[in-house]
Amino acid sequence: MHECEYSKTMMCSSFSCRFEKGRIYTYIGEVVVSVNPYRAMNIYGRDTIEQYKGRELYERPPHLFAIADAAYKAMKRRNKDTCIVISGESGAGKTEASKYIMQYIAAITNPSQRAEVERVKNMLLKSNCVLEAFGNAKTNRNDNSSRFGKYMDINFDFKGDPIGGHINNYLLEKSRVIFQQEGERSFHSFYQVTVTDAMKVIGFTTEEIQTVYKILATILHLGNLKFGSDGDVTLIENSKLVSVLGDLLSTKDENVEKALLYRTVATGRDVIDKQHTHQEASYGRDALAKAIYERLFCWIVGRINDIIEVKNYDARVHGKNTVIGVLDIYGFEIFQNNSFEQFCINYCNEKLQQLFIQLVLKQEQEEYEREGIPWKHIDYFNNQIIVDLVEQQHKGIFAVLDEACMNVGKVTDEMFLQALNGKLAKHAHYTSRKTVCVYLCNSVGVVVFCFSYSVVGFIDKNKDTLFQDFKRLLYNSSNPVLKAMWPEGKLRITEVTKRPLTAATLFKNSMISLVENLASKEPYYVRCIKPNDVKSPLLFEHERCKHQVEYLGLLENVRVRRAGFANRQLYPRFLQRYKMISEFTWPNHDLPSDKEAVKRLLQGCGFEHDVAYGKTKVFIRTPRTIFSLEEQRAEM
Ligand code: ATP
Ligand code: MG
Repeated sequence: MHECEYSKTMMCSSFSCRFEKGRIYTYIGEVVVSVNPYRAMNIYGRDTIEQYKGRELYERPPHLFAIADAAYKAMKRRNKDTCIVISGESGAGKTEASKYIMQYIAAITNPSQRAEVERVKNMLLKSNCVLEAFGNAKTNRNDNSSRFGKYMDINFDFKGDPIGGHINNYLLEKSRVIFQQEGERSFHSFYQVTVTDAMKVIGFTTEEIQTVYKILATILHLGNLKFGSDGDVTLIENSKLVSVLGDLLSTKDENVEKALLYRTVATGRDVIDKQHTHQEASYGRDALAKAIYERLFCWIVGRINDIIEVKNYDARVHGKNTVIGVLDIYGFEIFQNNSFEQFCINYCNEKLQQLFIQLVLKQEQEEYEREGIPWKHIDYFNNQIIVDLVEQQHKGIFAVLDEACMNVGKVTDEMFLQALNGKLAKHAHYTSRKTVCVYLCNSVGVVVFCFSYSVVGFIDKNKDTLFQDFKRLLYNSSNPVLKAMWPEGKLRITEVTKRPLTAATLFKNSMISLVENLASKEPYYVRCIKPNDVKSPLLFEHERCKHQVEYLGLLENVRVRRAGFANRQLYPRFLQRYKMISEFTWPNHDLPSDKEAVKRLLQGCGFEHDVAYGKTKVFIRTPRTIFSLEEQRAEM
């Protein structure tokens, strides 16, 4: 067996053994790997929290709480902004992990029970319920699948207590409101009334909640709206629905009907009403349903942000407030038929992988080189080339797509594919077969993945057109909450000059700023693994696991770590913590340097074989040595 294949198999066997014993967490360096247990585990209670509070990472068995505590400690002790990046495929346990992390942080903070901090904590936790109701749905892979990406900042004051937060949401799968695969459902919000409670608690007004219901009802009714034709004229078949929609949207029935059947176009100086074809009318109806749901979702996130934002904190008096960010975002998606959405999601994962490579692998190797530690360079696949292939200006796939969408006249998906072939035919990681597929080859380590996408629908999904008439209709609603959601409806047809940004460009921009934001923080990683496809607590499928180990890049991670060191500390810092355990260093040493003193201390303890001495830091290979030092320190 190839060495790499062997290592993957070993890694999965180890996860499997641990899984069977109910040990769902494992460390690779400081990365926590979590295997979804698919059963309630008694490992998140108050007593477990107490065991991890304030402890060092390796002092206790691997746990999410340890990583949450490490991020919290770095933030509190060193005044660092930190972030916890949680990744994995659908159903792997990302959202559950993010909630446990938040619960842990809520549990260990505010010892003095300040009322305002308790209020903020409550809001942060409750906001999750509302977001899940509107952004999650039952899919075939997960009964509570997040259909959006979420990044949440929690802000802390100088005491380390939460004082507010901010949420960014990414790419809601809005097409779900008009279409669901067999066995799947639309967003939970269409089936739940109990949402309302959480919304009330966090401060939505009655009028706002009523508007939310009206919007949900509008979408349901739009789903029943049918068009017919009489000769060349397009008609609404069940025209009674028009007045229902008029009522729900607080606007005149005739305006609803007109927006559904006509489009206002400016031709030179004239403005005319052009009738929709049957097909255009259906397209418009679906686009409206999707757009109002997406807008509703963004509005809800915006309202939550208003409610949870940091208030009354004066940095000049109290010092800078610090942040822990938690990212719960969709993992790689590889289906039978992959489209624009999968393309965007997988691009997002390539970006996150790139950040991971930069921060964990590259920095790690560079540090050893900088410190002069003997070190065999480890090759890893740098996926920057894939990221470039997608996002590069002028040449990347998104740029070619946007260019195709800019063309006046009818542009087909096939024309887009031809343009791609024209630009990228020679690219090492691009190939196009058949007429509608693009294969993006990615390689993680020695494994080569081919992600294939059907380009059918790329043009429409990227343009994401919502006729201006609908925007005007909603802006002119007499319901102020609804009106406020559609400010751009204010523009008259002759004033609309700029094209809205395409879906790809918006997504790309949001990913670039997400990665910039994460890169500015000290990162901690949680990699979630899904053990089987049938949600069973008993089944661990090795092949499935191996696949995830591959694309999560865990093998590279472990290789760098194994060749490397579990722990490193600056000499003075190390002495500060352990000097009491050696007669040569306690209370002070008389050796020529701190480095010499650390050497003497470790020789005295018999750990010589397990350490290396860099220019400024001591490197310790195995966690066992750290445990032992900690024990000796505790005995003093
Ligand atoms: P998606 O990408 O679809 O949103 P996800 O990675 O967020 O998926 P979760 O919703 O967190 O997946 O987890 C799926 C299900 O797995 C949960 O509803 C729960 O039943 C189970 N699960 C996940 N983590 C745990 C855990 N730590 N303990 C017990 N059950 C868990
Ligand atoms: Mg989720």
